[in-house]
Amino acid sequence: MPDVKTGTNSSCDVVIVGAGFSGLYMLHRLRGLGFSARVFEAGDGVGGTWFWNRYPGARVDIESQEYSYSFSDELQDEWVWTERYAAQPELLAYLNHVADRFDLRRDIQFETRVTAARFDEAAMRWNVVTDRGETVSARFCVMATGCLSVTNEPNFPGMESFAGASYHTGRWPHAGVDFTGKRVGVIGTGSSAIQSIPVIAAQAAHVHVFQRTPNYSVPAHNGPIDPRVVADWKANRAEYRQKARESGAGILAAGASEQSALEVSAEERQRIYEQRWARGGFAMGGAFIDIAINPEANATAAAFVADKIRGLVDDPKVAEALIPTSYPFATKRLCVDTGYYAAFNRDNVTLVDVRAAPIEAITPTGLRTAEADYALDAIVYAIGFDAMTGALGAIDIRGRDGISLRAAWAEGPRTYLGLMVAGFPNLFTITGPGSPSVLSNMVVSIEQHVDWISDCLVALADRQAGAIEATPEAQSDWVDHVNAAADFTLFPQANSWYLGANIPGKPRVFMPYVGGVGVYRQLCADVAAKDYEGFRLTSAAG
Ligand SMILES: Cc1cc2nc3c(=O)[nH]c(=O)nc-3n(C[C@H](O)[C@H](O)[C@H](O)COP(=O)(O)OP(=O)(O)OC[C@H]3O[C@@H](n4cnc5c(N)ncnc54)[C@H](O)[C@@H]3O)c2cc1C
Repeated sequence: MPDVKTGTNSSCDVVIVGAGFSGLYMLHRLRGLGFSARVFEAGDGVGGTWFWNRYPGARVDIESQEYSYSFSDELQDEWVWTERYAAQPELLAYLNHVADRFDLRRDIQFETRVTAARFDEAAMRWNVVTDRGETVSARFCVMATGCLSVTNEPNFPGMESFAGASYHTGRWPHAGVDFTGKRVGVIGTGSSAIQSIPVIAAQAAHVHVFQRTPNYSVPAHNGPIDPRVVADWKANRAEYRQKARESGAGILAAGASEQSALEVSAEERQRIYEQRWARGGFAMGGAFIDIAINPEANATAAAFVADKIRGLVDDPKVAEALIPTSYPFATKRLCVDTGYYAAFNRDNVTLVDVRAAPIEAITPTGLRTAEADYALDAIVYAIGFDAMTGALGAIDIRGRDGISLRAAWAEGPRTYLGLMVAGFPNLFTITGPGSPSVLSNMVVSIEQHVDWISDCLVALADRQAGAIEATPEAQSDWVDHVNAAADFTLFPQANSWYLGANIPGKPRVFMPYVGGVGVYRQLCADVAAKDYEGFRLTSAAG
């Protein structure tokens, strides 16, 4: 008899890998539809991103009420956010509440990493293998493994010789870290660094920030959530949620404008930018319709933010070093901060340009660049993730004819709609490459994918179809479209993690779909309405 509790050689309708926003909602939906589902999660709790990223200052940079599930009115009624941008502990508490409220834990196996998934063509089932030695057979496999769940590992010579403590922002100790009296080095200046540096600096004796490429950051203006916002959302929630689903990035607070930056006077443009800067968060990114596509329009936003940095940072040399010059505004993930630039006015914060003088080694006592030695008690690696493909590539996924996903994606990820991969029947990816994913409010995109997959499984059951698979033709057309859409924008001009540029040897392919969540949602709905156009459905018998 299979042991259902531990999963040894058990079977179910659907295996879900990951228990973050995606996996939790997927489990809830499938249960509601009468499918049996099992979730495997490497961590010892739910929450995904918000389980692992416990670094100081970690918080969402989309307004809390927007970055939350919309699928349950009761959940929305009972949960009250305390801050405009919820911090990691509150987000984790929210996801734990969701797991409890919908009684999800009984189908989640924690501290279990999925190592392989192999499609058995004769049986038309996936055999999912875990690091506990179990194999679970499932008709469908849903990868809810996250776009930013595999850390980019540091690889500096001498790392193991360091006598102090080392941390990665993406795998922060649950007990927290006390930096009081410590000399801390932070390597990296992406979003996690930008959030954590002001908080670490307030505690540590000294912080050296090792910067290779500066990032654009805009102020969050975080604070307690405004009761008027709460009341307004209560009254108009359904309408706001629908608008977000139909919008470009799924972020209403971005207030996407229809106006060109070039069709207004310089004074009017300045007024609009000032207004957006004062509003905070992604409002800056939505100031004009052509910021992401027209270099001239983009330059106006870049110049505005550069002036803001000059105004915020006392030392003109430091200010210039913090201003990005090598790529257009917001073509790397726009950061949203609380006191980042002002942190450089503190006596205990020093910016070190490691583009000019690269890091040569980590030493027993700290870090050596081409120019100097820095004595450190702790090093924080804030160097991001192997984005979008990292978690999928870490699993040995084999589809038809034993073909491996790693091999199929050797030249970069190829999907149909970011949902499925040709040659891998009944395998779904939530917010996979080729979907809006990281260019959007992820919760909006996750809900759309989960709903689409759920509807698809019901449609297959209705048709008595055993399998669904993307056709190679539809996949090729979609990949071409995703690339053409990206090339229409300025995004490919930045060496960003969107392109895999942060991971040595990773193929340079723009992975998310820039077409916008509203357009994309409609495309997905149209495909389903046209009897799953571009997919091949096969009968239960194969
Ligand atoms: C620091 C940080 C800040 C962010 N801020 C925002 C934001 O402001 N707005 C926004 O929209 N998005 C943000 N994101 C993106 C964020 O990842 C998504 O919003 C969302 O949390 C993704 O949910 P998920 O369930 O798809 O993936 P995740 O939350 O990443 O969960 C995936 C889970 O799968 C598990 N897993 C992976 N592989 C395996 C395996 N082989 N076996 C078992 N388990 C596995 C992981 O342990 C993880 O728990 C942020 C990401 C980070 C890292």
